[in-house]
Amino acid sequence: MSSEKVKVYFGSVQHGRALPFASFAAKVDKITDILIEQTKIEPKDKVAIKMHLGFSDGYQTLPVFFIRRIVEKIKKTGAFPFITDNPTAVYNAVNRGYTEYTCGCPIIPIAGVKDGYVSSVGIGGFAGFDSLDLAGVLKDADVLVDLSHIKGHGACGFGGAIKNLALGGYSGPTRWKKIHGANYSSDMWDKEKGTPELAKKLVEMCPYHALNYNEEKHELRRNYHDCRQCMTCLEVDQGMGAVKLPRESYTAFQEMMAIATQKVLETFKPEKIFYISFLLQITAYCDCLGMGQPFIVNDIGVVGSTDIVAIETASLDLIKEEGLIEKNIPPFFKNADFDPEKDFHPFTRVHGPYKDPYEVVRFVEKMGIGTSDYEIVEILSPKETSKMEPPKRQFEGEPTFF
Ligand code: SF4
Repeated sequence: MSSEKVKVYFGSVQHGRALPFASFAAKVDKITDILIEQTKIEPKDKVAIKMHLGFSDGYQTLPVFFIRRIVEKIKKTGAFPFITDNPTAVYNAVNRGYTEYTCGCPIIPIAGVKDGYVSSVGIGGFAGFDSLDLAGVLKDADVLVDLSHIKGHGACGFGGAIKNLALGGYSGPTRWKKIHGANYSSDMWDKEKGTPELAKKLVEMCPYHALNYNEEKHELRRNYHDCRQCMTCLEVDQGMGAVKLPRESYTAFQEMMAIATQKVLETFKPEKIFYISFLLQITAYCDCLGMGQPFIVNDIGVVGSTDIVAIETASLDLIKEEGLIEKNIPPFFKNADFDPEKDFHPFTRVHGPYKDPYEVVRFVEKMGIGTSDYEIVEILSPKETSKMEPPKRQFEGEPTFF
């Protein structure tokens, strides 16, 4: 077994010269070239570029500028790339500038226009579910390019390359009822011990409006996406044991995402997959929210790898090193924890102690899909480019349309 660390190629938004050869775009190009070189893409291969195209009023999804450059590079191999995502995001992609004309390749709904083009994959009864409906278009492709926007996520703290496949690689019903449904595999409400009065008080006291009570059924439900584990409900419960806050409910979602990711990756040959993640416009919530948000971490750059665990770990480590922009955190994150004594990841500080963003990565690593033992290989670092002889530049005497 090789003792070599897995390489994660990194391009910083910072540049050593104010010239295009040292720019961020040049770094994205170079990283794409390296990954294409390392991936066995063959002429006529159908290359699925899985990305999230966003919803309604969101504008912080991946810039079409980079998508087009990546698409053009894949086309040069003789393969046929296409972009894919859920049907609604595809249908409305034009609102965020994504079209076949701008991206350079078709944009295809991942599970068909009615979200029913799926293939059932068994998951052995995890969280009470036997199977998931994997998007059919992924099964049809020969190569997978997992192109992600790194940002926070309400339910698990973090959205990146894993979440892009785990939630984006399935039909809507699987995504919402089963994958997100894993949160509900542990009981959080004891009907016998809790009275309707207590349930109503809990709903009223939750500062994040994360509790809902159905009086007719005497059922209390927690929205795990919105819960920030402030513990107020446990304080109101006063040790009666009517309401619980089981950590397993939070991690079950992350484990389910790991399983879902594994099933997507199993449909491709390992040498036909690569990952590129952009650490730009890093917001607290994911792009599924369909709205613009303040960025809570400075722009960092781009990472690329052929290993999903390595790229996710590197992305999280880079964000941890960069730290939060505290003044940009929306005021409704009332319990954001800035205690420097706690070795929390910035996303944990915002989303709560049970939403450790590394958790899902650990689950995937345990499955043997990749390794967190990575090394950063910086491409066109500011130090390097500051010493490089720039290519000669010609200024336009007349329009050249280059
Ligand atoms: S822990 Fe806090 S945010 Fe979560 S459900 Fe209880 S009161 Fe609401």
